[in-house]
Amino acid sequence: MFAIYIKLRIGQFKRVSLPTYSDLIEETHTSQSLGFDNIFPNELCERGGQMIFIKLRESIEKNKLYVHCNGKLLNQNDFQVDKTILSFESPVCTQNRKDVEVTAHIEKTLGYTTYTVPYHLHGDHSEPCGVINED
Ligand SMILES: [Zn+2]
Repeated sequence: MFAIYIKLRIGQFKRVSLPTYSDLIEETHTSQSLGFDNIFPNELCERGGQMIFIKLRESIEKNKLYVHCNGKLLNQNDFQVDKTILSFESPVCTQNRKDVEVTAHIEKTLGYTTYTVPYHLHGDHSEPCGVINED
């Protein structure tokens, strides 16, 4: 399904056409540029264990995607790709780290994209993290 949207400002779009049910765009889209359109959440718990979701600009076959998190290459079992959504679990904050750094690269292409999400103290973040407070 696709429809025409106009961009109002960063992160806000307004639909200006009726939705069209077709896979025309996927069939004709051959560009292999990788871009992160969006990442969720925008803050992470220092204790890790949260799912990070990254909206890719286009769907990419999982086995062509190389994802590094804090410098470590994730293996194919460590992340999921559902059409244009890349997801994986956030790592525990290690000493001296202030953020999670995600780098993604598509096989046989030049360049890579990096995104960082800041760590917050367990007692100081707004999104629920699912870690039971043992204090
Ligand atoms: Zn937490």
